[in-house]
Amino acid sequence: MSHDYDYLIIGGGMTADTAAKGIREIDADGTIGIVGEESTAPFPRPALSKKLWTDDDFSEDDAALDTVDETGATLHLGARADTIDRDAKSVTTSTGDTFGYRRLLLATGGHPRQIPGLTPSDRVIYYRTLEHYHRLRAAVADHPHVAVVGGGYIGTEIAAALVQDGSTVTLIHPDDVLGSPTFPSVVADEIQAMFTDAGVTVHGGAKVDGGSTSPDGVRLDLSDGTTVTADLAVIGLGIEPAGVLARRSGLETSSDGGIVVDERLTTADPDVLAAGDVAEYPDHILGRRRVEHVDNANEMGAAAGRILAGSDEVYDHTPMFYSDLFDAWYEAVGTLDASLRTEVVDKEDGGKVVYYVDGDEVAGVLLWKVGDGVEPAKKVLAAHTVPDSFTDLI
Ligand SMILES: Cc1cc2nc3c(=O)[nH]c(=O)nc-3n(C[C@H](O)[C@H](O)[C@H](O)COP(=O)(O)OP(=O)(O)OC[C@H]3O[C@@H](n4cnc5c(N)ncnc54)[C@H](O)[C@@H]3O)c2cc1C
Repeated sequence: MSHDYDYLIIGGGMTADTAAKGIREIDADGTIGIVGEESTAPFPRPALSKKLWTDDDFSEDDAALDTVDETGATLHLGARADTIDRDAKSVTTSTGDTFGYRRLLLATGGHPRQIPGLTPSDRVIYYRTLEHYHRLRAAVADHPHVAVVGGGYIGTEIAAALVQDGSTVTLIHPDDVLGSPTFPSVVADEIQAMFTDAGVTVHGGAKVDGGSTSPDGVRLDLSDGTTVTADLAVIGLGIEPAGVLARRSGLETSSDGGIVVDERLTTADPDVLAAGDVAEYPDHILGRRRVEHVDNANEMGAAAGRILAGSDEVYDHTPMFYSDLFDAWYEAVGTLDASLRTEVVDKEDGGKVVYYVDGDEVAGVLLWKVGDGVEPAKKVLAAHTVPDSFTDLI
């Protein structure tokens, strides 16, 4: 079948949702189509590793984004966009459909990085989607032994969620201390202690090189020569940006596969924009980068929608990111790289502000259990200097 839309959005994630809503801020009538390879409507991914596990009063309905109700967009789900003909302004999909567009947004995000030999199955979940959440929920009903692979925010959040839900959890990560590539030792030590105190077996210093599944469970082969057996494995090793569609159509992609856009989120083709996890854009404080976080998906998606519909704005929002772990939480802006010089300022109730200093400027700010610090943190970063004193900045 062929379809025609004023605005066509490829990808059915959070960026697609806010882009459709951004279009409607400017254009009440233009037709909007969303082509997404997942079988579900756009859904807020942060809930998949947090509130849906930790808040008994919070349901999938509470989380729903209501993209269609709020925008009138038409969803084409279970359809992967395979080619873009930019001269003809049309997109073809794995379902054999053709979609004409006036303006196109690539909001293709990314796909979970996989471990060679460990094929996704009911016992091996590369955790990212609502469908994965449903599968994991069903699998942990009897509180099995779950091996969680990855010490980043998805691995740590899902490990915390599962142990609080009653499962036995082994968390495998490559570092000496959980979180040590990101956080200074005073924070990383606290994080590791939260997990061990909660009963999680933290297996550090090893990567999963491979493994196998059987009708009884999963076996993971680790780089330190050991094996871990469990009922299932949940894997959070980050994403590979889904820029291949753009690259195939002759648009510029970065070395890691992101889609290169300018400050108006536009590619070299004025009618093709990209936003969200997949977009490499010039941040007006932090410089060119790709950001895999929800504040960016929301704000950049909305800006892209408005720009698609005729707004003359530029994207000048520097995104923050956040995570929740047990009773702890943090917000952050910029680059958190513990190999940089760090300056730690203690606050009330165990809170800490951590400044990451890269040469002659502050490159990142961590707000560990400290509220209302995001805007002041952005000011510190925007100054592009190293302050004489860090004590009272936030
Ligand atoms: C479990 C989890 C918890 C998270 N928690 C936090 C958090 O606490 N804080 C935070 O800041 N961020 C968090 N994030 C990150 C945040 O959710 C993402 O940055 C955001 O959802 C990205 O949205 P997106 O739409 O750009 O990309 P995606 O969510 O990746 O959506 C893109 C969609 O496009 C589809 N697609 C790709 N290629 C094609 C194609 N060719 N044709 C059709 N469809 C295609 C993909 O399948 C996908 O459905 C979390 C992410 C996960 C997975």
